[in-house]
Amino acid sequence: MTRGPAASADAPATLAERSRLSPRADDALPSISIVAPAYNEQEVIVEFHRRVSENLRAIGAPYELVLVNDGSSDQTLALMHALQADDPQVMVVDLSRNFGKEIALSAGLDHCSGEVVVVLDADLQDPPELIPEMLEGWRAGYDVIYGVRSDRAGESWLKKATAQLFYRLIGSVSRVEIPRDTGDFRLMTRRVVRELSRLREEHRFMKGLFAWVGFPSRPLVYRRSPRLAGVTKWNYWKLWNLALEGITSFTIAPLKIASYLGISVAFLSLLYAAFVIWKTLMYGDPVRGYPSLLVVVLFLGGVQLIAVGVLGEYIGRIFNEVKGRPLYLVNRILPSQLHSTTTPTSASDAS
Ligand code: UDP
Ligand code: MG
Repeated sequence: MTRGPAASADAPATLAERSRLSPRADDALPSISIVAPAYNEQEVIVEFHRRVSENLRAIGAPYELVLVNDGSSDQTLALMHALQADDPQVMVVDLSRNFGKEIALSAGLDHCSGEVVVVLDADLQDPPELIPEMLEGWRAGYDVIYGVRSDRAGESWLKKATAQLFYRLIGSVSRVEIPRDTGDFRLMTRRVVRELSRLREEHRFMKGLFAWVGFPSRPLVYRRSPRLAGVTKWNYWKLWNLALEGITSFTIAPLKIASYLGISVAFLSLLYAAFVIWKTLMYGDPVRGYPSLLVVVLFLGGVQLIAVGVLGEYIGRIFNEVKGRPLYLVNRILPSQLHSTTTPTSASDAS
């Protein structure tokens, strides 16, 4: 089903959509887990904890704040420990090293125990003030309420253009519909988290995995604020790799393109060969044709290298997956109060 950013949060569900929903009571309150991966976020982590706690206390539901330390090299872990010592709602999952945001997030999802889970960036780019609105969607019966950025203010035209191109490309080749301008900011019910945690692939393109599990979902349009402090960990090289990851984990279209390209080139070469033979028979062959020869050789060489490269991208990923290593290793876990009363497996199904 298409759910573009045009659909606003309070748009009435279509008939087909409504029939898939099982609404909950107007005053229903689930236990909430907030999951936040953090890598070198010493400037923001304390303020993050303050803002999240303030908002969750106002909601009044039992909650926990799962902070995942993704191998930070600054004071982030020490600050997390201090927060956890003072606040029984805080849980700290300390990974053994830096595994990258996607895996850190998965580690948090594996360890949280709330009936609904909200994923937030530790840099406060995703406003915790929107959680009550997300809960409205949950009461309406949706399993996933995902944040859609209303504008990409503060981003360069190059980043906007490349993002646009990426969504166009992946939308046209992948069978799973990946919503545009959607990050990890979302609320999910326990059953979605449970299904997500069954996807253990090493190459984790989270946007794609979120879309793959499906379930009734609804967008929530919001303005993404600039980073509170500190620096982004993304650059164009990483973005390029993320795009490669997205395409190679969700479609084998490039492999097919390589074969079709090969077939077309081979076919055209046959035609050209026939033409050359005909020409030689008709007019003889003085020693010309060096440029055309070079062009053909170079062109074919290029096509072959591209095709081999595409193969390599996939084979490399197969290589990484067959090793079957655990996604991450945990150094230490400091549980929250919510965690000691419920465990991820016994937490009641929110559906
Ligand atoms: N992050 C992480 N591990 C990493 C890189 C980033 O856990 O290796 C966290 C980071 O602390 C932040 C979130 O992922 O909470 C988003 O990172 P960032 O703000 O750098 O990305 P952006 O918002 O610019 O996309
Ligand atoms: Mg950020």
